[in-house]
Amino acid sequence: MDKKIIEEITGIAGKENVLTSLEERKCYSYDARIDGGIPDCVVFPSSAKEVSKILILANNYLFPVIPRGSGSGLTGGSVPIRGGVVISFTRMNRILEIDTKNLIAATEPGVITYIFQEEVARHGLFYPPDPASYKYSSIGGNVAECAGGPNSLKYGVTRDYVLGLEVVKPTGEIITTGVKTMKGVVGYDLTRLFVGSEGTLGIITKIILKLIPLPEAKATILALFKEVDEACEAVSAIIAARIVPSTMEFMDRASIKCSEQANPMGLPHDIGGLLLIEVNGERESIASQSEKIRSILFEYKAVQCDITQDPKEADRLWQARRTLSQATYNLNPVKIAEDVVIPRSNIPGLIHALEEMEKRYGIPILSFGHAGDGNFHVSIMIQDNDIQRAKAEEAVKEIFSKTLELGGTISGEHGIGLAKASYLPMELSPEVIDTMKKIKKLFDPNNILNPGKIFPV
Ligand SMILES: Cc1cc2nc3c(=O)[nH]c(=O)nc-3n(C[C@H](O)[C@H](O)[C@H](O)COP(=O)(O)OP(=O)(O)OC[C@H]3O[C@@H](n4cnc5c(N)ncnc54)[C@H](O)[C@@H]3O)c2cc1C
Repeated sequence: MDKKIIEEITGIAGKENVLTSLEERKCYSYDARIDGGIPDCVVFPSSAKEVSKILILANNYLFPVIPRGSGSGLTGGSVPIRGGVVISFTRMNRILEIDTKNLIAATEPGVITYIFQEEVARHGLFYPPDPASYKYSSIGGNVAECAGGPNSLKYGVTRDYVLGLEVVKPTGEIITTGVKTMKGVVGYDLTRLFVGSEGTLGIITKIILKLIPLPEAKATILALFKEVDEACEAVSAIIAARIVPSTMEFMDRASIKCSEQANPMGLPHDIGGLLLIEVNGERESIASQSEKIRSILFEYKAVQCDITQDPKEADRLWQARRTLSQATYNLNPVKIAEDVVIPRSNIPGLIHALEEMEKRYGIPILSFGHAGDGNFHVSIMIQDNDIQRAKAEEAVKEIFSKTLELGGTISGEHGIGLAKASYLPMELSPEVIDTMKKIKKLFDPNNILNPGKIFPV
């Protein structure tokens, strides 16, 4: 990028808020999955106005602009592919308002999800979306990806809490969408269009969020099964009994083994499936819900079932699930992480297909995740070489085919980004992709905002 352009950007944001050295720029060339291209500079704006000026400049000189939260994405969404300017929101990290009368909050995009949750909890309020990355991912990144998490089963995903947005369009205009009320249907729902748009339609500079009262109490239940089918059937049985836990996480045999080897919590060696369930709500209802769940778990042949309301003990029960993501790297250095969703009733079909594929491909394929809403994180762990990468690519295609055959979708919460762009036509028809591309063109006629993401080239 021309030096003159970088000088203009420095004029907008201030010299101390622009990174230009190779070492610093390199730090913004990857996310949690993809190592991509190095940006020409990295800017830390402090306002929507500064973002707008940079986008106007980008349209004049035709350079790419890539919005970035914490870079914890799992599909390369914040990764540059042909240089350009990364806009990082770590300076726009203020919680602007917590309205305890109307249960609404306003934040800047760089606020870390966990910090926001802790802050609203101090007011007796609850913001449920809880991606496993909640301790470091940003609300802006969560909105751009429509993040979900263990709580999604009972409370829904990020989309369900976004009431309105301030967005800088790729052409530089600053617009506000949505409402600061519990309802609002005036015109098209642009808020929903921006949520999950992976930083390709506009840059989010302010977010209005809905809050709910903080549940009074919570119980955590860990159940172990000899056979994976028993665990899967128990998931459906609990939902069929009209109990809606806040969380219902699953780990298969390979995941349990991997986690136990890395961080032993004393789980028996012959366990084929693990469920981690949480119920929350009014204190009186917790014990009866837990008891109902316990009897269903034993009906489906659980060999062990631990229940606690003690936060420290709950932390211990979460250990295997919480430490698993990192533990997978003990198997092999490269992870291909997918997040397919299937109807709950088809969970056994997917899990058996994955077990069979693991044997056939001869590479570790672990599945774990948010079983309650049918969302599985499938981790293919490979060596860093072309042969294994080709094998993994084949496996991914097969997993996506199986998922679609079972009535599912290829991504529940991680998005498409760069990693899954080539698979988009497996799920969407040419007409649908064409309609989406026309929407992109309408917002971003010069294709300067996060180019190369979502759509196959
Ligand atoms: C260990 C681990 C566990 C995870 N678990 C989950 C999980 O349970 N559920 C889940 O949903 N995800 C999960 N993720 C994925 C990731 O954390 C989420 O996608 C998260 O929402 C990304 O937030 P971020 O701030 O890191 O965004 P980034 O990775 O920086 O960016 C993500 C996307 O958002 C865009 N973007 C960022 N900020 C803005 C903005 N202000 N305006 C417009 N676009 C913007 C970027 O361009 C990019 O396309 C996990 C990741 C890891 C590493």
